[in-house]
Amino acid sequence: MNAQDERMPVEGDNHAPEVEARKLRRVRLRSRLADDGIAGLLVFDLHNIRYLTGFSGTNAVVAVLPDEVVLLTDFRYRLQAADQAPDSRYLEIEQKVSGLLPEVLVGVDGPIGIEDSLSVARWNSLEDSLAEIEYRFAGGHVEQLRRVKGSEELEPLRRAGQLLAQTIGSLAERPVVGRAESDVALALEVYARERGSAAPPFDFIVAGGARGAMPHAEASAALIEPDGLLVVDIGTEVDGYASDMTRTFATGRINEEKKRIFDVVRKAQEKARRAARAGITCRELDAVARDVIAEAGYAAYFGHGLGHGVGLEVHEAPRVSRLSEDVLEAGMVVTIEPGIYLPGLGGVRIEDTVLIEEDGIEILTPLDHGWVRLT
Ligand code: ZN
Ligand code: ZN
Repeated sequence: MNAQDERMPVEGDNHAPEVEARKLRRVRLRSRLADDGIAGLLVFDLHNIRYLTGFSGTNAVVAVLPDEVVLLTDFRYRLQAADQAPDSRYLEIEQKVSGLLPEVLVGVDGPIGIEDSLSVARWNSLEDSLAEIEYRFAGGHVEQLRRVKGSEELEPLRRAGQLLAQTIGSLAERPVVGRAESDVALALEVYARERGSAAPPFDFIVAGGARGAMPHAEASAALIEPDGLLVVDIGTEVDGYASDMTRTFATGRINEEKKRIFDVVRKAQEKARRAARAGITCRELDAVARDVIAEAGYAAYFGHGLGHGVGLEVHEAPRVSRLSEDVLEAGMVVTIEPGIYLPGLGGVRIEDTVLIEEDGIEILTPLDHGWVRLT
């Protein structure tokens, strides 16, 4: 059986809706490329490759050409490519991908765009093979398309979010005080994976006490102390789609200042959730939360952006920050995650992943935002 035989369409092919969705993505991409004066695109980013072809392997290059999409990967992935990407032409990399590019690209009428996120080393290995090809660097085309989710992407995003909310919610039923942060992180990961999450999209943050003042503190061997704050920022992944969520808990009695920063962050997050909708700029939305924190006197302690896009990657476009030029559109999925971080005292962050709609949002990580005391 050769590769061609394996690619015969199977009767009752259950990929049909995905193939339809990809067809639309490719139409949109080609239209963007045409606007940019490019006849085709060489895609190196693996998330972009998955978006355009369905293929989830770890070694591939894709050529989006006017009449076809070519998936170049190696023998290890021959069967997987046939299964996941029946609507792409499979070309096997036997030695180096550079050896195949001239034959794939020859005859294309117009310049080829090269995704500019590839490494310098990768580029050095390819450059000579493109000597006869007209090309130019072209970044961000697929990332821009990925910002607005299709209906077929919302289902896994919803499942990932619900599972994530359930996972953080399960903390209320387990003892945490006196346990190592890393033990709690592991227990949460096992909980999520037993219920359908793939390997998590980032290292879990479980940061007790003063460690919570580091926004990206990975779970450590430190023991979780009583009467402090505990920041838990974790993620799930379902069918390739991520979700991202943070809750901050009390581990016993909390002093006035910690209560105060919790209330400020909660108010900032709630106000931003209420303001989020299609048409608001990312900068405006960031300001909604930032103003609440600034009015309370903590402007200097909220040093990151309000949020980021979520999809095939846990951090993707658009950025929701003071510097962003983006406007939110219906179908975008972003996080809303203000925080206050006080050195020596601890931190508070509250984060949801939300779907932007015409006149509001759908919270994809539904869980109460109030105080929860852990034991
Ligand atoms: Zn997060
Ligand atoms: Zn986040």
